[in-house]
Amino acid sequence: MRPADLQRYKKRLLEKQREVSSAKPDAQARVPGAGGGEGDLIDQANLDAEAELQIRVHQTDGRLLRAIEEALARVRHGTYGACDVCKQPISKARLEAVPWTRHCRECKEREHPAA
Ligand SMILES: [Zn+2]
Repeated sequence: MRPADLQRYKKRLLEKQREVSSAKPDAQARVPGAGGGEGDLIDQANLDAEAELQIRVHQTDGRLLRAIEEALARVRHGTYGACDVCKQPISKARLEAVPWTRHCRECKEREHPAA
């Protein structure tokens, strides 16, 4: 991989990392608090669903953040851009779309055929 390409992916990873990290306090602030008295059951159910959704978003962010950190570690170690499974270079188009990916498209599809 050309150093200029590597720098570009690294920059995108850092930008995404900042974006995901900074999104966290906002998401936390939107989680509805407990209480609210004798609210009707439907409202309470909606609040619960919303809280659950926020938790799911958090888990996704955490996974994404970890994937980004791992990708940045691979940049440092000089192994960035190679598929974890088949060790072949991951296509440029795929790295452009998902710079934190660990798998080439073929291996990803083999792992999750339905996805
Ligand atoms: Zn592969």
